[in-house]
Amino acid sequence: MNSNSLIELDRAHLIHPVASYRGHEKLGVRVLASAKGATVTDASGRQLVDGFAGLWCVNAGFGHETIVEAAAKQMRELPYATAYFGLGSEPAIRLASELAERAPGDLNHVYFTLGGSDAIDSTIRFIRYYWIARREPQRDQFISVEQGYHGSSTAGAGLTALPAFHTGFGIPFDWQHKISSHYAYRNPVGDDPQAIIAASLTALRRKVEEIGPERVAAFYAEPIQGSGGVLVPPRGWMKAMRELCRELGILFVADEVITGFGRTGPLFASTEDEIVPDFITTAKGLTSGYVPMGAVFMADHIYQTIADGAGASAIGHGYTYSAHPVSAAVGLEVLKLYENGLLENGVKAGARLMGGLESLRDHPLVGDVRGRGMLAAIELVIDKANKTPLPAAAEPARRIFDRAWENGLVIRAFANGVLGYAPPLCCSETEIEAIIERTRQTLDETL
Ligand code: PLP
Repeated sequence: MNSNSLIELDRAHLIHPVASYRGHEKLGVRVLASAKGATVTDASGRQLVDGFAGLWCVNAGFGHETIVEAAAKQMRELPYATAYFGLGSEPAIRLASELAERAPGDLNHVYFTLGGSDAIDSTIRFIRYYWIARREPQRDQFISVEQGYHGSSTAGAGLTALPAFHTGFGIPFDWQHKISSHYAYRNPVGDDPQAIIAASLTALRRKVEEIGPERVAAFYAEPIQGSGGVLVPPRGWMKAMRELCRELGILFVADEVITGFGRTGPLFASTEDEIVPDFITTAKGLTSGYVPMGAVFMADHIYQTIADGAGASAIGHGYTYSAHPVSAAVGLEVLKLYENGLLENGVKAGARLMGGLESLRDHPLVGDVRGRGMLAAIELVIDKANKTPLPAAAEPARRIFDRAWENGLVIRAFANGVLGYAPPLCCSETEIEAIIERTRQTLDETL
């Protein structure tokens, strides 16, 4: 089918996630046709380096034959098996066990979902179940961080602190609360790491006090805030917040949907942060985006409380596609790849990426450079001295995105002038260099 007909069919029928429908109708869809490694090819035959790994998920790169083979083999043998009613499949059981072995501390229990939003949603339900089983049913208030993203399920969208996920929906989120972000570049307390950590600790203490300490169920944080603009907390921030939650007697959820599976280096960023959360949520890199899957990691003490609380009764939480055998087979193969060189390559490529982005600091538009491993951003400003932001609107961001595309680079252009980078971990030195050169060219053309 030619690309003009596709564009028309798309306009008429496909509703796109997180998009201005009217804006999209006007601009039309950009169609990708194929991909290999870190290179994607669009419908017109243009080849681009994918600096964003799809949607920060294709960590292993595209067209990996062994992943395709693992999925095909599983589809031939057993394409579906429910995990309901005590049934199961070998790949799902093996994947849960392999993951539990590698997860921090006593996060020994794995609940498979279809992606990140339902992983977050599942934690909300499990946390409520836990507190009710502990005979503290009044603990029904949840706290997250401004600029945080925790998906777009009906409950989880409330924890997401980005206005587009609330405005216009009219769904009450009065049981969900926010504390301000650690965002170092624009933090009222300045950029001193200890001052930022102290401010966040005070904010969480105050918030809990304000809600009522006996009413708070849990605190959610990303090891690096992704969709909020790749905001990297100071080293020690996650640990300090985790310890405060323990002191306050509230549960701590590390949302590793982006940071999990090598994005910042190891399989879990929580390991780097030296913490054992009560829950970790993951998705994306778990299957490297080849098929949908998410996973909730649950600590022993939570699992035992929920199990004892329910006794012989069924815990009514599940999806037809929970623990899907094809996704699990892909997960097992991807895990093998991570441990056979992919994580290692990601660390090397990440150092090159950060070095390359740092070299853009001299550009008149670049106000800030931040990141860890293969997760990074530059923040564009009109005036460096005053940190004057680009106009917060979708259109300039789209123009930069389009220009980068014309230059053979896929990046994420956030509406606030932040450019996000999350390339596949398999990137070569040449591909990282191309990302940097094409970014500079795009910025020069934007001036
Ligand atoms: N949590 C975080 C930190 C995310 O970045 C995302 C998605 O980007 C989600 C949750 C939601 O995941 P999904 O889009 O797979 O539903």
